[in-house]
Amino acid sequence: MLLYPKSTPLRYYTLMLENLPAIHIHQLTKTYPGGLQALKGIDLTVREGQFFALLGPNGAGKSTTISILCSLVNKTGGTVSICGHNIDTDWSKAKTCLGVVPQEFNFNIFEPCWQIVVNQAGYYGVPRDVALKRLDVLFDQLGLSDKRNEQAKNLSGGFKRRLMIARALIHEPRVLILDEPTAGVDISLRRSMWQFLQELNNGGMTIILTTHYLEEAEALCKEVAIIDHGKIVTHGNTQDLLQQLNAESFILYCTAPIDTLSALPPISGVALRQLDPLCLEADIDQNHTLTELITYLQIHGITVGRIRNKANRLEELFLKLVNHD
Ligand code: ADP
Repeated sequence: MLLYPKSTPLRYYTLMLENLPAIHIHQLTKTYPGGLQALKGIDLTVREGQFFALLGPNGAGKSTTISILCSLVNKTGGTVSICGHNIDTDWSKAKTCLGVVPQEFNFNIFEPCWQIVVNQAGYYGVPRDVALKRLDVLFDQLGLSDKRNEQAKNLSGGFKRRLMIARALIHEPRVLILDEPTAGVDISLRRSMWQFLQELNNGGMTIILTTHYLEEAEALCKEVAIIDHGKIVTHGNTQDLLQQLNAESFILYCTAPIDTLSALPPISGVALRQLDPLCLEADIDQNHTLTELITYLQIHGITVGRIRNKANRLEELFLKLVNHD
């Protein structure tokens, strides 16, 4: 069941008609006390309805950016608007457009789950009876229904994460921001969260996440920006950016041990490494083909028996074998 119908709800059309971005960040800077310059002038626009990933290594400035969007951290300079509302001058309206799932669990662990979510609704002026109805739908979708009266401290990490998502959605924000939503989450829960987020986005909600997991961004996000040392280093359509990756990696299993690799002449567009006597790893750039590589190896007396793409297939196997209940 979907929280939001697949057809775009009316409230999402407002921004689209006005052509306002969900998030607009201009020349954002942050210098922490002590002098560390975490953000060095970031420009970023996320269109309404986008599924957007902010990627980057540890310490790049992702959480700082998200925390500024949520007004948890004060910026040093620049402007930020959420659904057209400037966070400096119009924070209360900006806030209502935003649902946030921070990295750390930040609810009162002694409260029952339902209360954590309904209290949050109260902060946004959602009437209690409305909040209770929404709660039932959200808990049902997130598999939390039988945890309704449980104290949050008794939930596993995965269920705590779902509770945070329910809490972030209770006031029906237009934009949902998730900071490392699947960090430390097991693979089957990660996949069910992906599906849930995808359904929200299909219903028109703008979703922004930060993640370390590139496969997560690749699977979900139509657009990505990469931040490094407080600067956006690239921003664009995910598939277009992936096209720029000029190599794809394969593992080749040969039919007989190879002891001549270092003696072979170089092959254009391919980086070859030996992993063990029977096994090679090859990075093939976009202008060359796997067939060229296999032919080249064959000419030099190496027969390839099996090939696999280096993408993580262990995850697929895990999902197939584990019980998802
Ligand atoms: P990311 O989320 O990409 O890992 P952060 O935004 O957390 O990066 O951190 C960016 C930089 O700012 C890092 O060098 C980090 O050590 C520093 N930083 C983050 N929070 C604080 C803080 N409260 N005080 C001082 N420095 C901080």
